[in-house]
Amino acid sequence: IFIMNMTSRVLLILSSLLLLSGTASAFYDDATFANINEIVTEHFELDIFIDFTRNVFSGTNTLSMRRTADFLDVVTLDVWDLNVSKIIDQDGRDYKFEIDDPNPNLGQRLIITIPEEVSELEVYNFTISYETSPTAEAISWLTPEQTSGKEIPYMFTQSESIFARSLAPFQDTPSIKTTYVVKTTTNPEFVTRVSGNMTYDYTDCTSRYSTFEMNIPVQSYLLAIASGNLVERRIGERTFVITEPEEIEKVANEFSQLEDFLIQAENITIPYEWGEYKLLILPPSFPFGGMENPLLTFASPAIVPGDKSSVDVAIHEIAHSWFGNLVTNNNWTNFWLNEGFTVFLERRAVRNLFGEDYMKVTAKLENQSMYYDMLDYGLDHTFSSLYPIFHGENPDDAFSEVPYEKGFQFLYYLETVIGEENFTEFLRKYLAKFSQESIGTVDFINYFTSFVTETFSENESRDILEEIDFDTWIYAPGLPPVTLDFETEEYNQSIELAQNFLDGTVDKEAALKLYLSFSVNLKGLFISHLIDNIEEVDEDKASYIDNTLHISSEINGEIIYRWLQVAIRSGQLGSPFTSAEEFVSSIGRQKFVMPVYMAMKDIDIAKAKEIFERHRDFYHPLAVTAIEKKLYDEIMISG
Ligand SMILES: [Zn+2]
Repeated sequence: IFIMNMTSRVLLILSSLLLLSGTASAFYDDATFANINEIVTEHFELDIFIDFTRNVFSGTNTLSMRRTADFLDVVTLDVWDLNVSKIIDQDGRDYKFEIDDPNPNLGQRLIITIPEEVSELEVYNFTISYETSPTAEAISWLTPEQTSGKEIPYMFTQSESIFARSLAPFQDTPSIKTTYVVKTTTNPEFVTRVSGNMTYDYTDCTSRYSTFEMNIPVQSYLLAIASGNLVERRIGERTFVITEPEEIEKVANEFSQLEDFLIQAENITIPYEWGEYKLLILPPSFPFGGMENPLLTFASPAIVPGDKSSVDVAIHEIAHSWFGNLVTNNNWTNFWLNEGFTVFLERRAVRNLFGEDYMKVTAKLENQSMYYDMLDYGLDHTFSSLYPIFHGENPDDAFSEVPYEKGFQFLYYLETVIGEENFTEFLRKYLAKFSQESIGTVDFINYFTSFVTETFSENESRDILEEIDFDTWIYAPGLPPVTLDFETEEYNQSIELAQNFLDGTVDKEAALKLYLSFSVNLKGLFISHLIDNIEEVDEDKASYIDNTLHISSEINGEIIYRWLQVAIRSGQLGSPFTSAEEFVSSIGRQKFVMPVYMAMKDIDIAKAKEIFERHRDFYHPLAVTAIEKKLYDEIMISG
């Protein structure tokens, strides 16, 4: 009995060890073709020539990979339109490889055959010689005319969600975090920046050579490269802005508070770990408001209207330094862990900086955008839930306000249940616990549950956990199970003013005075109320509103893209299309241009397509794909 007992104990320990190691190494991401449960990348060294005459990168990517399976017969990597010419390892051994297309939504698969005699190496350093395609989905190549300086071309990348694989071969999944070195060569007139610390920069008469290092392990979608005529200016102890020389003054002025934003965010969470914080303002075709590349946030000039009215985006990107960049979603179904937490931290910082009402108005406005997105997918569609289930689609198909706003609202709700002080404590512990890891929703739920049990008495924690309907919040599609109240007096005023215009009961002078007192977001809510009731806005009414409030001469794109929808949908066929064309060809931020194209499409689809085709070359490839999808094929999303 004693012996048997011993044996069963040993077995028990052994099996739990197996279970533990099994859990730790079982990555799951159906948007990668890489065999990440057999081998993992620990470091890569990318060495590329940025060729502005052919619009390609050419060079090598050396992946340092550690085997986790017992032996290997293949190593599969993610690629997308790459021309791979040679693969060798640390001993100069040549590897056979092929590229196939298991699912065109997700790029391609590079299959490296591992001969039996090296099937049990511990570490493989594959040096892959390759070239990108001129139409690589991640890279935007701009002509000199598309820049402010108009003298030399410009290029920039956008890797999230799964487009790093069009820059170089990778295990392109947020489950895998690596350190890296990037070496770039360009003609001497170009200045290059990469998401990493610059450790070397040398120019001779033929070329400029720069080296960048990332020493904190990060996921592949955070790799970012920009090259053009760039200048950098320090604006705070750790904060810098980078842009073209023509714009640097305006940009430095717009973000003069950047250091304060950083301090605000780290006061709420834990100290900023990355060293410096640099914000690069790109040319207008950048497809997003911002992208949180570590040490090198990319942002659209749309967030530089000149009156500091769109600094929220900069605060959002700063907030990613903790949520997303330290604690990362392990696949795209868990994307809300990146964005919901980031919006939560952004709004907390915004509340501390600009007041509770300002924060609530923003939440109200974005809640509305989320609702429109849900209607677009269908209120019962999985993409309207916090936990979208994919069936082979590109993860970007589920990209909407849902993970941002529903995620934010879930966390805001949890905060109301356990109190602000406790929730702040939870955020700090969560960061400490999962820093530099990739996790899923279940990890979050388990950790939150254990935090509640440790923080409260047995009875209290039971009540708290019973009150929270995790399943509906996370897995059910549609609006959240709890409606949170973000109404403010100003919010009600903005809606009332819009309603008065609809009812035709407006005192022009008072209306203008009130409208001018509104923040950008209140103006957005005002216009959204008109869009919601567009059947009551005819051409005359739209002109009357504009003549009274001068909305069409506003400078902030947040207001213009909403107003253009009113102008177009109210049936003014002529001039709104002219101003709409001007707008969609001056800024490539998808948030702005998509709804304007949709409005044009509904009124005059031929004209909408004509306008898009005239400006197709202006947009980033990601935006081209997104607009094309909407204008040309209404493919039903499966699931
Ligand atoms: Zn974000």
